[in-house]
Amino acid sequence: MSKEKTGEELFDPSQATDASFDTLAIRTGRLSTDQGSHGEPIFTTSSFVFENAAQAAARFAGDEDGFIYSRFSNPTVSAFEERLAALEGAERCVATASGMSTIMATMVALLENGDQLVSSRSVFGTTNVLFDKYLRRMGIETTFVDLTDYEAWEDAISDKTKVLFLETPSNPLSEVADIPRLAKLAHDNGALLVVDNCFCTPALQKPLALGADIVIHSATKFLDGQGRCLGGAVVGRNEELAEIWTFLRSAGPTMSPFNAWVFLKGLETLSLRMQAHSASALKLAVWLEEHPSVEKVFYSGLPTHPQHLLAREQQKAFGGVVSFRVKGGREQAWQVIDSTKFLSITANLGDAKTTITHPATTTHGRLSDEDKERAGISENLIRVAVGLEDIEDIKADLSHGLDSLF
Ligand SMILES: *Cc1c(COP(=O)(O)O)cnc(C)c1O
Repeated sequence: MSKEKTGEELFDPSQATDASFDTLAIRTGRLSTDQGSHGEPIFTTSSFVFENAAQAAARFAGDEDGFIYSRFSNPTVSAFEERLAALEGAERCVATASGMSTIMATMVALLENGDQLVSSRSVFGTTNVLFDKYLRRMGIETTFVDLTDYEAWEDAISDKTKVLFLETPSNPLSEVADIPRLAKLAHDNGALLVVDNCFCTPALQKPLALGADIVIHSATKFLDGQGRCLGGAVVGRNEELAEIWTFLRSAGPTMSPFNAWVFLKGLETLSLRMQAHSASALKLAVWLEEHPSVEKVFYSGLPTHPQHLLAREQQKAFGGVVSFRVKGGREQAWQVIDSTKFLSITANLGDAKTTITHPATTTHGRLSDEDKERAGISENLIRVAVGLEDIEDIKADLSHGLDSLF
């Protein structure tokens, strides 16, 4: 391996975050209890009692702050919201039952019949279904464009456009969109830019500081980090978040206190985990690029990646997801997947356990052949979400299948 290609030279994990981030991740949103519990308690209660009828009336009227009912708010959930808002540099955060319910609530709150949404084509598969089928039924038209084709974004915008939506880096090919550029385009046209920050998390990328208006999370992934529960969150300004919260308390998909507690504790180790995922993913990408059975590697941390410099500018590191094409087709890709001994064959990501999947027949299996081709989801493509095991063991496990191909 040539010297300039070693992971250490490209990326110094100690530079991946700032000290105040870690302090905020551990010390914001702490819950106080009468018993002096040091760990944050889980408030497993559906409702809250009032001292008297006048207090109940004041709480319901909004004249007095305080808890009423856990579909509206709950102390453990609020602690998680406060902590994530601090990490994203946002005025407010609202937590929900899953990433999908966050996206639904955000869009239903911001858009109405007759409005247009312009979205990157490379978004989470279910997001695509939500926009294309259900929002369309509500009279909200979605135009899909290629993530890095800025002319296409411009051309798609009309006087009905209210929201631009994207994920960066994209899944599974790790394409990187210029957030400040698309934020300016949105604002010049009276629209909002909404960014799904699931792949980077605020430990590596802060879209609000780059000009985005709203950030969305599937907390299910890296915010938890150990694949334990489902959750979602949206952060942004009070103005838009108030609308989203009002919809959520009316529609119901709010976060459970237990899940909020898991995510609250997950945030305490977020930047350490993201540095470790990123450092191992970069080492894996560099190693794969030199493997004779590998045709092409997709990872924004590689200098050969077309948006590598942009990724360096707007991200602190490049995240844990690496995709690559093996020489051959589906048969060879499946052979590599099936030859692994401990990697988990699952479509999930953002876990301490490394996962491996064949996008063409799983996460992106619903796309037509034409859409797969356009999105670069070829039959020989494999996606690895690098976990926290020893990187040498991960490489060795992939070697079983890769070494057998030549
Ligand atoms: C998983 C995922 C979602 C959906 O989140 P759920 O928690 O599964 O509902 C949305 N966006 C991205 C980028 C994801 O990876």
